[in-house]
Formats: sequence, C-alpha cells, structure tokens
Amino acid sequence: SQVAMYAAKRRSEDIISYKSEFVTSTPESLSLLSELRQAVTNNELRVYLQPKVSTVDHRVIAAEALVRWQHPEKGLVPPFKFVPFAEQTGFIRELTKWMIRSLASQWQGLQLGHEVFRVSVNLSTRDLLSPTFPDFVQQTLHDFQVPTTGVCLEITESAIMDDPTFAEQTLAKLSNMGFRLSIDDFGTGYSSLGYLKRLPVNELKVDQSFVFGMIEDNNDRTIVQSTIDLAHNLGLEVVAEGVETEAMYLALRELGCEEAQGYFIGKPMPVEEFIVWRDQWHKE
Ligand code: C2E
Ligand code: CA
Ligand code: CA
Ligand code: CA
Repeated sequence: SQVAMYAAKRRSEDIISYKSEFVTSTPESLSLLSELRQAVTNNELRVYLQPKVSTVDHRVIAAEALVRWQHPEKGLVPPFKFVPFAEQTGFIRELTKWMIRSLASQWQGLQLGHEVFRVSVNLSTRDLLSPTFPDFVQQTLHDFQVPTTGVCLEITESAIMDDPTFAEQTLAKLSNMGFRLSIDDFGTGYSSLGYLKRLPVNELKVDQSFVFGMIEDNNDRTIVQSTIDLAHNLGLEVVAEGVETEAMYLALRELGCEEAQGYFIGKPMPVEEFIVWRDQWHKE
C-alpha cells in the first residue's frame, strides 16, 4: 500500500531521502550538509550537559545531553540552527550516533560511585524509524561497558506519532534492552493518550511553555498539575523542564513533580565544567 511504501521509505538508511529533496537541491543547504559532515570528522561537535535534580533531596541525579557546534568561524552554534536541518536531511542519524559514542566514552567519568548517574539523549523520528538503531545503541554501550539502565532516551510525541506502529515496536525493543524512556515536550504534540498507556515509557517531561506560565497563569498551572497527576496514575515519573525561578521549583515540588531541570538549577555546560559544577552544588 501507499502507507507501507511511505513508511519503508522513511526507514531507509539513505542519508538524503524524500523530504529533503527540495532542501538539499539548493547550494546553501548542500554546503551546510557537507559542513555538518566535516563537523563530525573535524571534531567540531560538543556535548553539553544540563543537570536534572531530584526535588526531594535537591541532588543532581541525572543530566540531559544537548549538542553544540563549535564552528571555526561562526563560534558556538546552537542546535536550532542545524538540528532541524539535520532532521530533514537524515543527517540526524549520524549526529545521534556521534552523541551516543561520545557519551558512552565519557559515561564512567560521570559516575559518583554508589548510584547510577543517568544521562539523557534526544532521539529524532529518524532514529526511531531506523531498524538498525536499537542494536547500534546496545552494542555501542556494551563496547564502553555502560549499562543500558544508565541511559535515558528522550522522544517527542510527534516523533512517535509519525509511524506509531513501528515506533511502538522500536520502543518495546529499547525498553527490553533496559533503556529508560522519556516523552519529551509533553503536551505540545498530538494528544496521544491511548498510545501513552501502551508504550513502555518511564517518564514524562512537562514542556517548558507550561512551566514558564505556571506561577502567573492558572491555566498553565492546571495543565502542569493535570500532567503530573496523569503521569502518576499511569505509573510514570515526571520531569519539569524550563525551571527558571525558585517559585517554579517550589511549586513543582509541591505538586509532586520528581525531577526539575532549568536555568534556576543550572545551564547546559561542557562535560568537564559540569563535573566541577556538580561537586560544588553538592557541597553547598
Ligand atoms: P529540548 O530537548 O526540549 O531541550 C531543552 C532545551 O531547553 C535546551 O535548548 C535547553 O538549553 C533549554 N533550556 C533548559 N532549561 C531552560 C530554561 O530554564 N529556560 C529556557 N528558556 N530554556 C531552557 P537547546 O540546547 O538549545 O536545544 C534545543 C532543542 O534542540 C532541544 O530541545 C532538542 O529538541 C534539540 N536538540 C539539542 N541537542 C540535540 C541532540 O543531540 N539531538 C537531537 N535530536 N536534538 C537535539
Ligand atoms: Ca529533550
Ligand atoms: Ca523538551
Ligand atoms: Ca523542545
């Protein structure tokens, strides 16, 4: 059928696929794509880590990995300037692999001894639809002796809804391998509550747009509260992102949100800096 062909095409391993045909035909985008390829070979991509704290004891229990591009002329390039393009062209799969390899190689250095310090990675639709992705990530972690339980994979609702049946299979595989699974930007995509119930996810991330508004806007507060209650009733943990003030942090804690992430706690930082920052945070 049309649908099956479409899905198969999306899963194909070609770097340049249907969606990008128009994008990659312009000279600017062709050069951006080759620049991105070079960025990987020339070691210009950087892993930044943003702390996630437990609202119960304020300890830094995890971190989210966010990519940056240290461009030789343009300086530090934020992800919104190249991640959407990488998604359109399919290059995102190379980027995700690079990210997983980098994190795996640095994971031991992030551990504190007793409990596993978990690192979250953002996945795109392309990763979810790649049939080789689960084996790749499992093998890579194995090579670096990183337990799969030490890695959380963040997936947006829209990435899942692109091909829900296939995504569900991939998520089941990843969950069976031991990965923690998180639904990112929750509340901004399709309402897919039926899927939520079926998917083997462990946590929901309340989108920052609701968190920003929750102190001043009663509707946002209600959305945050309902999301937390829904998650708990489904047996999921909740992470709030975009926590910029103490008022937000305290309100979230009051509502039972387990983890918080945002500028009030700490910005994304290079790995070395993060390790120093975390020591300092725990001393205070
Ligand atoms: P995201 O996954 O929703 O990541 C959270 C974004 O919110 C990050 O922006 C983070 O720096 C920012 N943020 C965190 N706390 C606060 C806060 O308190 N206030 C405000 N205003 N912002 C906050 P960043 O690093 O620019 O990343 C933007 C988006 O780019 C990410 O959104 C994610 O969708 C994408 N992205 C970043 N790195 C990767 C990657 O390695 N792979 C993929 N597939 N996507 C990535
Ligand atoms: Ca994320
Ligand atoms: Ca998010
Ligand atoms: Ca987002």
